[in-house]
Amino acid sequence: MDRQIAELGEELAQHATQLGSVYELNIEPETLDVVARTLRGRIFPRIQVNEDNIKTFVWNAWNPTTGVEVDHDDSGGWVFIFDKEEDMQRVLNGGPWFIHLSWMLIAKWREGLVWEKIKLWHQNLWVQLINAPRSHIFEKNCKLLVSPVGRVLDSPYSVSPGKPSRGRAIRMRVELDLRKPLFCDFFLKNTEKPTWTRFAYDGLTKLCFYCGLVGHQWKKCKQLPPGVPHEEVIKEMENRSLEAPGECM
Ligand SMILES: [Zn+2]
Repeated sequence: MDRQIAELGEELAQHATQLGSVYELNIEPETLDVVARTLRGRIFPRIQVNEDNIKTFVWNAWNPTTGVEVDHDDSGGWVFIFDKEEDMQRVLNGGPWFIHLSWMLIAKWREGLVWEKIKLWHQNLWVQLINAPRSHIFEKNCKLLVSPVGRVLDSPYSVSPGKPSRGRAIRMRVELDLRKPLFCDFFLKNTEKPTWTRFAYDGLTKLCFYCGLVGHQWKKCKQLPPGVPHEEVIKEMENRSLEAPGECM
C-alpha cells in the first residue's frame, strides 16, 4: 500500500491532500449530477440478452421522455444514465420491471459508493396483507405485520384504522431481499382462535415452492434431497401446505 502511494504521480500529489495513506480529492459538481441520474440494473433470474434487447426494454417498459444511455457494469449488470432525473425517479418508484419472465432489478447509483462489482439482490414490490383481523388494522401494526417480508417502504397510501385500504386487503410497498425465502403466511393471535393471515405479492416471478426463494422453479431447486423422486417431493410440499397453506401469488 505504502509503495503504491509512493508511486502516485507528482500531478496527483499537487491536487490531493494527503491524510496519512488516505488521499482526498475534490468532487466536481458535474459528476455528481450524472451520478444522481444513474441507475444500476440486473436481470434476475438471468437470461441471455444483448445491448439491443436492453435498449428495446428501456423504450418499451420505461418509455422515457428523453434519452437513456445504456452501458454494462462489472458485475454482469447494466448501467442506465437518464437525461432527465424525473424519468429515473418514475422508474425507481414503479415496477417490478419485467424483461421476458425475469425482473430487471434496479437501484440508484449512490454517491460515494464503489459498488459496481456488487450484485443487486433487492426488489421493491407491493404486498397485500390478507385476512388480518380488522381490530389489528392500523398503520403501525400493519407495518409490523409486514416487516418479516422485508424493509417496509414509504407508500403514498395510508392505512385507515379498522379499514382495509383496497377491497379486503392492505397493500404495502416492501423491499425484498432475494437471498431470503419469501415469507408467505402466519397465524395471528385473535380473540377466540388464531387467524391465518397471509401475504400476496404483486408481480412475482418464478417462486420455488420447495425452498421459498424467488428465481427458480422447484424442479430446479438446489436444496432438493438428491435421489428423491419428484412425486415424493410433491407429496411433501402438499403436506406442508396443509399445515400452513402458503399462497404467495
Ligand atoms: Zn428452491
